[in-house]
Amino acid sequence: MDEKPSGAIGMSTPLKRVLGVRAAKQLEDKLSLATVGELLRYYPRKYDRRGKLTDIAGLKVGEKVTVWASVRSVKDRQLGPGRKVRNITNVVISDGKRDLTCTFFNRWNLGKMLPVGTDAMFSGTVSSFNNQLQITSPQVAVVSVAGADRLSPAAAKGTSASESVDDRPGETRAKDAIDVLESFAGGLIPVYPLSEGITGTLLQRCVRTVLDVLEVVEDPLPEVLLASRGLVDLDTALHDVHRPTDETALDAALARLRYDEALSIQLVLARRKAQMRHFPAEPCPAVPDGLLAEFDRELPFTLTAGQREVGEAIAHDLATIHPMNRLLQGEVGSGKTVVALRAMLQVIDAGRQAVMLAPTEVLAAQHARSLRSVLGPLGNGGELGSRPGAVKITLLTGSMNTSARREALLDIASGQAGIVVGTHALLSEGVFFAGLGLIVIDEQHRFGVEQRNALRNKHPEGNPPHVLVMTATPIPRTVAMTVYGDLDTSVLSELPKGRSPISTTVVPAGERPAWVDRAWMRVHEEVAKGHQVYVVCPKIGDQLDEPARAKVKKSASLEDLNYAPDDFEFDEPEEQSDSKRPPLAVVEVAEQLAQGPLKGLRMGILHGRLPPVEKDAVMSAFSAGQIDVLIATTVIEVGVDVPNATMMIIMDAERFGLSQLHQLRGRVGRGTGPGVCLLVTESPPGSNGRVRLAAVEATNDGFELAEADLAIRREGDVLGTSQAGRSSGLRQLSLLRDREVIEQARADATQFVGDDPLMSGYPGLAAMVASVIDEESQEFLEKG
Ligand code: ADP
Ligand code: MG
Repeated sequence: MDEKPSGAIGMSTPLKRVLGVRAAKQLEDKLSLATVGELLRYYPRKYDRRGKLTDIAGLKVGEKVTVWASVRSVKDRQLGPGRKVRNITNVVISDGKRDLTCTFFNRWNLGKMLPVGTDAMFSGTVSSFNNQLQITSPQVAVVSVAGADRLSPAAAKGTSASESVDDRPGETRAKDAIDVLESFAGGLIPVYPLSEGITGTLLQRCVRTVLDVLEVVEDPLPEVLLASRGLVDLDTALHDVHRPTDETALDAALARLRYDEALSIQLVLARRKAQMRHFPAEPCPAVPDGLLAEFDRELPFTLTAGQREVGEAIAHDLATIHPMNRLLQGEVGSGKTVVALRAMLQVIDAGRQAVMLAPTEVLAAQHARSLRSVLGPLGNGGELGSRPGAVKITLLTGSMNTSARREALLDIASGQAGIVVGTHALLSEGVFFAGLGLIVIDEQHRFGVEQRNALRNKHPEGNPPHVLVMTATPIPRTVAMTVYGDLDTSVLSELPKGRSPISTTVVPAGERPAWVDRAWMRVHEEVAKGHQVYVVCPKIGDQLDEPARAKVKKSASLEDLNYAPDDFEFDEPEEQSDSKRPPLAVVEVAEQLAQGPLKGLRMGILHGRLPPVEKDAVMSAFSAGQIDVLIATTVIEVGVDVPNATMMIIMDAERFGLSQLHQLRGRVGRGTGPGVCLLVTESPPGSNGRVRLAAVEATNDGFELAEADLAIRREGDVLGTSQAGRSSGLRQLSLLRDREVIEQARADATQFVGDDPLMSGYPGLAAMVASVIDEESQEFLEKG
């Protein structure tokens, strides 16, 4: 989209050359629009659909109409101060055959704006008053003003007839009026996202001026592609999105622009992927007589078909000379850890190290413990009497004391540690690996995008390591393709055999207080059967809460998906409650339960603000069955694996997000006893909270829930980087509705990029990416 010679107007022409300095400066200052292309990519937010041009004689009550008529009289009536309506203006208009009254409220300057004899378009809904047809508060666009041409403005939008004061000469105004007229005839009036000091009329006028002088815009997409995808060309799309002649043209324009957005994102991702393919990696082929083989022989259970299949894909990736970049999605309890462990063993067999990053200390410690126990004698490397070749598993977390930390760092740097498990502490300075072959990131949604890269850099010499990202938060397919588009994806959909289903029930505390009592009785029953119970609350307790921390945005943005609290749970509830009372807190609920309904049971408390040693002690005691009821925050949301826990009661459940609830209940039903999850809420029936809880109650399918979540949330800017005043991300594309478009664009992008990240065969495409997604968002995607 290069600037055309000899004064021709193209996409890169500065607006001031077309619109003059004054209007251009306004657009630049208020909306950061500096070039023709930027203005044309500033799409209308919606379209006002006006009625057809109609004779007064043909009007019917209730119809939306536009009539072209002359003003015959203007009468003001003052109703005096102190009322809402203080002034009524009746404007009688005529189309030459009949009269019609238009009524306006609190409009003081209509006599001046619409002197008798003025021709204008009046749009609105026909109503009847005292048996007479009339239009109340119509929108008015003046076509030609009677008498003087002092009058402003030429085109006036409804209630804001005085919104813009145009100081240009009368002739130009007449042209404007005709233009407005023209767009009225199309029936679709563009409504732009505005910012202070910019009027809709100004934007409409500027866009029209630009479109009138614009050279035909070159299309970066080949015609064959347009034809095969049924898309209109870019020039047509840009004209029609701003000045649609009818709905069909508008739909076609929007479809094309949506595709452009989807394609731009996919191009960024495909280029990144192609670049990655050019990096070398250390191949780690499986060996016949290594640790992995031995581990497989001694595995106490058989792998599910899914685990085997994903395992093969990973084994293959690890053996190649380019870095693996794979996302493993698997339902809660689907057994991702053993898949990761097998990958780690293959890498260790090749003489390299593996690291596993977990979002919380609780989870990191648990991983280290369970890896040691599942590896048995294969995992006690470095200990006295360990068998030769056994792996040393080293834990590194932020709360370790200096000497323990120093020892761990030494293990890692010397290569003694085969498997390193840790939290964000692994990302801090001073952590270096001797030969890092594989990074496993557990529960990716808890980590920021930066962190994947930070870990890669912990291995400064030699080739970049392979990466396996795991998540149990099901990512809707469209989001996965958009946000994690540069990763290969595997899904573990099948749960290991012998899992019992979780039954979920909403307990409406407001309408059925007796159910709550019953719930506490159920706790006693579970405990009597030798099982354990979680009670989850949204908050820790007043003194311990820091409201500023861990605030979660409510849009489904990229940031959310990569949302990275530090080593703590979400204290700030993700969803608003209908209830005005503060959310229930662990500390208080524990006290009330201990003295009331759960008296006599062995209870423990777990939340992120406990000292790490205490956290560990509580978790171990719970795992060992020494605690019957664990009252906790969402700190237990991810990864915690205590098969004997069969029941979970979530208090103020409406305050949690859908995916979070799904994660939480995944903590029960991990053993052979059937799992029960009770969602206690005071939200009234029919409220938003209850709708969401009903969704959780209705399905155990995480993917279905993730889609529902996306649908219920207000859909935000997917790229999550919008700047004030101007939306930087996706304007037309919806992750909710446009799955097909995203899939098509993904396939096309892969083709365009092929093996050439520079896309030298398609010079216009890079420019298109730049004009559709801003730099910030591109960087975001590129960093992956
Ligand atoms: P998640 O995918 O949620 O991380 P885990 O990896 O924690 O799940 O696995 C949950 C439990 O299932 C663990 O106790 C694990 O040992 C067990 N498990 C994993 N795979 C199998 C299998 N194929 N058969 C039986 N149990 C399995
Ligand atoms: Mg897990």
